[in-house]
Amino acid sequence: MGSLARKMRRKRSQKFAKQFTKQLKKQMKMMGSMSSECLACKRPFDKESKEHAENWKVVVRKKTEQTNLYCPKCWDTAMEMIKEVEDSNDHRIREEEQVGEDPDESKSI
Ligand SMILES: [Zn+2]
Repeated sequence: MGSLARKMRRKRSQKFAKQFTKQLKKQMKMMGSMSSECLACKRPFDKESKEHAENWKVVVRKKTEQTNLYCPKCWDTAMEMIKEVEDSNDHRIREEEQVGEDPDESKSI
């Protein structure tokens, strides 16, 4: 009985190992297709650098399994641009609200 349990366990772990290897191979393939430079400024990504590994951003497009790499500087710039767009949208909405609230004031300008 003991040996049967062991056999079953081994079978299960073999299956797991097979799945794991498959997953790993897929990941390796993805890493292989990963660009090694910043998509925006072409700064090279240093795979050996811990700092790069921690700070660089990888954006994976699931549809194409394409990975885009951004250095922290370009990522920050992109984030700021998004924020600016959001802020300006916000601002416009606020202005529209003001005009709606007090139409007399906008007439006097
Ligand atoms: Zn960059």
